[in-house]
Amino acid sequence: MKFVGRIFRSVLIITALLVLTGGLALYYIPAVQDMVISRTINHTLTASHDELLADDALRVAVCGSGSPLANSERRPACNLVFAAGKIFVVDAGAGSFARVAQWRLPLDRMEAVFITHFHSDHIADLPEARLQSWVSQRPAPLAVYGGPGIERVVAGFSEAFALDDFYRIAHHGADFLKPEIAPMWPHEIANADGTPLTGIQGKVVFEKDGLTVTAFAVDHAPVVPAYGYRFDYKGRSVVFSGDTHKTPGLALHAKGADVLLHEAMDKKIVALTYAAAARAQNPIIQKIMADIPDYHASPQDAAETAKEAGVAHLVLTHLIPPLPDWFGRRIFLRGTDVAGVKTRIAFDGMLIELPAESKVVKFGDLGH
Ligand SMILES: [Zn+2]
Ligand SMILES: [Zn+2]
Repeated sequence: MKFVGRIFRSVLIITALLVLTGGLALYYIPAVQDMVISRTINHTLTASHDELLADDALRVAVCGSGSPLANSERRPACNLVFAAGKIFVVDAGAGSFARVAQWRLPLDRMEAVFITHFHSDHIADLPEARLQSWVSQRPAPLAVYGGPGIERVVAGFSEAFALDDFYRIAHHGADFLKPEIAPMWPHEIANADGTPLTGIQGKVVFEKDGLTVTAFAVDHAPVVPAYGYRFDYKGRSVVFSGDTHKTPGLALHAKGADVLLHEAMDKKIVALTYAAAARAQNPIIQKIMADIPDYHASPQDAAETAKEAGVAHLVLTHLIPPLPDWFGRRIFLRGTDVAGVKTRIAFDGMLIELPAESKVVKFGDLGH
């Protein structure tokens, strides 16, 4: 035993010396640093997620599961849909495209962006979606769908980034950054007379290569237009609620879908925050907490909507307030135990896979 103990001690000392020598080399020797960084670059450049674009499934990646309230774990609203070999974006909240960039996706295959409504936590990274796909050699202007007002939003962002475009083209050359594919191309979703979809109205807004996207009105008043989107591909379907109070149109348009991604606000915690703000004499937080409950849905509302729609998989996203993950999980799942509905909490990096013409629903993690 003494002999074994001595060997064990020697191995331990040698290992510690090797780790120490390696650490010192990394800290002091530039050649070692270059070698390590070169390996990291190689790994980053060769990593990719091209398999997500295979046309054997409808897939969703959550690139932002948070809200406008700051949360280091969750970016504001952002989702990617992979279908028919293309990438579609549903909302682009601030910083969400930093997440997307980490996943090394073939962004030249970004086909369109669908905006639910024009609150900042849904549109602020639209210029990043455009820039990243442009640099990735997207072959055509980026189609951006939204309700009446989308032309104004696109025109505003385009003007704000006109100088940035000019510098980049001047620096990299027009052969690499083709000016003709730089722009965003607004597509207004409205009735024939230009008015926004309201009530329980819905409208097919995109049909190509077996993918159908339907926009429908939700209730986020006074925000009008406010839409949700349904994606149908190869017998599978996923629905995004956008921001909404509980509304019958959502259950109607989510009917029979495989997965519903629904916004969620825990109104009890918001009420507690309101009371605490009153005690702390913080009128700004008090005002915000008083105003927001009437245009968002609770997790229980979301579960009821999923049940009414016959959707078996509910994913709560756009979480308000921004609670620490382990604790938030407990709070947001309260009261969502509804027959026939399995409720999950979204996270940045959540991957949902719906293999074509099947009933299989797989949940995974792209990392963040
Ligand atoms: Zn909103
Ligand atoms: Zn929002």
